[in-house]
Amino acid sequence: MKLGGTVHQNCAARGVEMEGGRLSGVVTEAGTIKTRTAVLAGGAWASSFCNQLGVQFPVATIRQSMVRLAPVEQQLPAALTSPHVAITRRPDGHYVLAISGRGRADPTAQMLRFAPQFLPMFAKRWRNVFPGGLEGMRWGHETRAKWKLDAPTPMERARILDPKPDPAGVRETHRRAVDLLPALREARIANTWAGYIDSTPDGVPGIGELPQVRGLILAAGFSGHGFGIGPGAGHLIADLVSGAKPIFDPAPFDPARFKESMWGKVADF
Ligand SMILES: Cc1cc2nc3c(=O)[nH]c(=O)nc-3n(C[C@H](O)[C@H](O)[C@H](O)COP(=O)(O)OP(=O)(O)OC[C@H]3O[C@@H](n4cnc5c(N)ncnc54)[C@H](O)[C@@H]3O)c2cc1C
Repeated sequence: MKLGGTVHQNCAARGVEMEGGRLSGVVTEAGTIKTRTAVLAGGAWASSFCNQLGVQFPVATIRQSMVRLAPVEQQLPAALTSPHVAITRRPDGHYVLAISGRGRADPTAQMLRFAPQFLPMFAKRWRNVFPGGLEGMRWGHETRAKWKLDAPTPMERARILDPKPDPAGVRETHRRAVDLLPALREARIANTWAGYIDSTPDGVPGIGELPQVRGLILAAGFSGHGFGIGPGAGHLIADLVSGAKPIFDPAPFDPARFKESMWGKVADF
C-alpha cells in the first residue's frame, strides 16, 4: 500500500475484459479494474471461473472433515503425524485431528466433466475418498453454468464455503486419534468442521499464464498442501507477474499439462 497498491476485500471478481487476446481489465462486483496482468488464485472456485473464459482446468474438490478436541491434563506430543491420523496441539492446548487425504467427493457437474482425468486418482485412493452427497451442488462452486458480468455470481451468493463435516469421517478420525494416543479418550470434542480441498488430477497446482488470456496467471489447485508450499509458490507467482527469472523451473506447474492424459501420472498422496 506504501507503493500505491490498494486492497479490496469482500469484492468478487466476475470475469475479465480483453483487448487483442490479452487481459485489459478484471470485472468485479464493484466495477472494473483496468490491468494488463492479474492472478487468478480463486481456490475451489478457480475451475468454474476458468470455465467462464473457455479454459478447462480440471479440479475436483474433496470435502475433508476436521476435529478439535479440548485440552487434556496429560502432556502429549505437540504434533504427531502418521499415515493413519495427524494430531496437532494448538497454542490454546486444544488438539486438531485430521486424516490426510481422506474425504468425500460430492458429485457435481464439474466432477462429472473431469471424471476421466480423476479416475486414476480415485482408483488409487479408494480407501480414503468416498462418494459424497449434495453439499457440492448446494454451494455452487463447481457449477458448469456461465454467469453474467452484471449480476451476482454463484461465488457472491455463497461467499464463504463452509460445508458440513462428514459424521463418519469425524468418528473415524476421532477413533484413530484415540487409538494412537489413548489419553485423548478423556478429551471432549470441542467442534468439527469441513473444507473443500481443490485437487488436481496429479496433486500438483496449476501455476502459469493462461495462453487463452495472456496476462492472466492461474495459481490454483493446491491439492491440500497450499500452506506447505505457499512460500515457494508465492515467490514463483511474483516472478511470473513481474517478469523476473523464476525462482525455479515453472514447467511442472504449467496449467497446460492437463491437456495430456492423466493415466500413469497419479499423485502419490
Ligand atoms: C480441511 C483442510 C485442511 C487442510 N490442511 C492443510 C495442511 O495441513 N497443510 C497444507 O499445506 N494445506 C492444507 N490445506 C490446504 C490449504 O488450505 C490450501 O491449499 C490453501 O488454502 C490454498 O490457498 P489458495 O490461496 O490457493 O486458495 P484459498 O485459500 O481457497 O483462497 C482462495 C480465495 O479466493 C477467494 N475467491 C474465490 N473466487 C473469487 C472471486 N471470483 N472473486 C474474489 N475472490 C474469490 C475465496 O473466497 C478465497 O478467499 C487444507 C485444506 C483444508 C480444506
